[in-house]
Amino acid sequence: MSTPFPTGTILGYPRIGRRRELKKAVESFWAGRITADELEAAAAELRAVTRERLVGLGLGATDSSIPEAFSFYDQVLDAAVTVGAVPSRFQRLVREDGTLDLAGYFTIARGEGNDVPAEMTKWFESNYHYLVPEIGPETEFHLASDRLLREVAEATTSGYRTRPVIVGPITFLLLSKPSEGAPADYRPLDRLDDLLPVYAELIAGLTAVGAEWVQFDEPALVSESIEVDRATVLEATARAYELLGAVPARPQIFVAAPYGSLDDALPVLLASPVEAVGLDLVKGSVPELVEGRASTGSATEKTLVGGVVDGHNIWRGDLDAAFATLESLRALSPNVAVSSSTSLFHTPHSITDEPALDNRLKSWLAFADEKVAQIAALATGLAEGRDAIAETLDAASVALKDRRDAPGVRDGAVRARAAALTDADFHRGDYDERQSAQDAALGLPFLPTTTIGSFPQTGDIRKARAANARGDISDAEYTEFLKAEIKSVVDLQEEIGIDVIVHGEPERNDMVQYFAENLDGFAVTQNGWVQSYGSRCTRPSLLWGDVSRPAPITVDWSAYTQTLTEKPVKGMLTGPVTILAWSFVRDDQPLADTANQVALALRDEITDLEAAGIGVIQVDEPALRELLPLKLADQPSYLDWSVGSFRLATSGVAPRTQIHTHLCYSEFGVVIDAINLLDADVTSIEAARSKMDVVPEIKSSGFGRGIGPGVYDIHSPRVPSVDEVTELIDIALGSIPNRQVWVNPDCGLKTRGYTETVDSLRNVVAATKAVRERV
Ligand code: GLN
Ligand code: ZN
Repeated sequence: MSTPFPTGTILGYPRIGRRRELKKAVESFWAGRITADELEAAAAELRAVTRERLVGLGLGATDSSIPEAFSFYDQVLDAAVTVGAVPSRFQRLVREDGTLDLAGYFTIARGEGNDVPAEMTKWFESNYHYLVPEIGPETEFHLASDRLLREVAEATTSGYRTRPVIVGPITFLLLSKPSEGAPADYRPLDRLDDLLPVYAELIAGLTAVGAEWVQFDEPALVSESIEVDRATVLEATARAYELLGAVPARPQIFVAAPYGSLDDALPVLLASPVEAVGLDLVKGSVPELVEGRASTGSATEKTLVGGVVDGHNIWRGDLDAAFATLESLRALSPNVAVSSSTSLFHTPHSITDEPALDNRLKSWLAFADEKVAQIAALATGLAEGRDAIAETLDAASVALKDRRDAPGVRDGAVRARAAALTDADFHRGDYDERQSAQDAALGLPFLPTTTIGSFPQTGDIRKARAANARGDISDAEYTEFLKAEIKSVVDLQEEIGIDVIVHGEPERNDMVQYFAENLDGFAVTQNGWVQSYGSRCTRPSLLWGDVSRPAPITVDWSAYTQTLTEKPVKGMLTGPVTILAWSFVRDDQPLADTANQVALALRDEITDLEAAGIGVIQVDEPALRELLPLKLADQPSYLDWSVGSFRLATSGVAPRTQIHTHLCYSEFGVVIDAINLLDADVTSIEAARSKMDVVPEIKSSGFGRGIGPGVYDIHSPRVPSVDEVTELIDIALGSIPNRQVWVNPDCGLKTRGYTETVDSLRNVVAATKAVRERV
């Protein structure tokens, strides 16, 4: 007898703990303060608390509705470790029985000595980073971890029946990269047939420990930004689930496809033996499936799991519409269930942890726990009819209407200004003219040196900030402290011989939150942490209303900095796209409109900086790439508005004012056109780790403005030698016209210590001087 899919479920839940318990336990383990057993116990406790909480919120304890989706670090690393895909450089960590201990697991994630950690990259359209598996001909797949089995067994023992979750085989291989030394045309997906038996063995084992359903996450099926051609992906999908479906005594299979619509992969899954398919109905719409319906009446007998509650945002949303969407799925299948559109690990735990947040704003929000409750209600509605949940639906509609009409959500002045924008507001003058004006105004040497903005955020800075927040030191004292800090950063740069000076950003807790705290239309949380990668968490701000700038934000700091030096000071702002990408953004208007509002606020700031005598202004856009849509068809309009908002922010200045931008990555490829269109006078990018791989691309793209490919990697404390930096500058000069090249580190220095920062910058300046003399 097969048990039906639970009527309400979530694809996953925050793993970090309501008070970041996991972060604290993991970091204590790394620091040697607790043992592996103690860490295991802390994690088990967290899982137990989570199961109990989810039942309290309305999920069933024994109907497979609770996902068993814990991870100590990253779910993609977990999948790799489960199937034995340990990179060769870490094989020494593998024990005789083929398994890894916890310390070994973390070493793969974080590296050790000269063994670099697995590469980290963004998980679909989110700010979560996963570790990229490395697959080569040498990878020997085998079931190398029983962790998932143990977690299911742990749940079973304590009276639950949970649903184990693992990254599916197709997504796992599509997200992998060929291991070092693999042949040039090597494709991890070609190893599918070797991998599938391991997944088969795993799911058979899951049945043995009591699992009735297993969830395979296959978000790669919704993405078109995958290098393998679609027909191959679909064929592989069909093959994989045919084989897994044929495993005797297996749990029923639920394939979840968050972050977009499955499109042509849906019929493939429906034709496969899997029992349930999860659709992201927030990003995607209810599929047509017309052909199937014509012949069978309903398109499928399989359970369609409608992801109608947004797992990727924090709004309470339109529950009534969500319910209607679910009901429309019933035309396609007699078996309909409700879930979140994605795992809820993109959202903070609970709105009840935010006592300081405005109550009216809170009534418009739903964090993870509130979303679980919404799903439980929708499930009741599916089972018992709309009337059973009418009150809940109506309450959500009332909140939605209240939000629509609330003061601040729509600000007449902001809207009038946006409506009056013309094409001219998005354009600066001719670049050649700007270049001569800037040369005259700034008088910079050939190969100008600069940094990306932040200097080390020392313990002293953090202590002073916390003391000021507690009221232990006054605002005036705190300001004096920051001024002294800025002065020492300026003196240091002068002494080292940097050409364009930064103030070091000591006043900023975070490059987005700092602006959110100083702009209208935003709120910030106290406990709204979400996992960014590993034990690293961020606290995204909430962009809930029309955005405007009540007063200048950075102008006093930059103007003060300019009084300390004759050299040009670079003003430092975060760009509109990055502010959006790293916040929870209102969902009631197009992102483009919101971006333009943020851009206008920044435009005012930039004009004020210019008026205060700041001749160089950097607008960071490290997240430009991150929001790039997964569907190719959606990319042009994204690039259009994202680039547009940057230009709107930066086009209000005179030709003599030099606009810089900084992007954290070096995958120039996809966005090269966008970078060109940003029309910044100078663009700095990461390039050191790849030894300037990006330089040929810059050359072939014909990019004609200033470019600073990073000459050293700031992600580790390692000090680059003068020779190393010289070599990288030479590579850049080999392809890019001399006058375009700037010399700078890969990124900001806030996570570094002073010792290595000073030594590294000295070597950068020494290398630059040597090259200047020679060229
Ligand atoms: N200006 C920021 C800094 O230096 C840029 C950070 C980033 O690119 N993420 O810290
Ligand atoms: Zn950066």
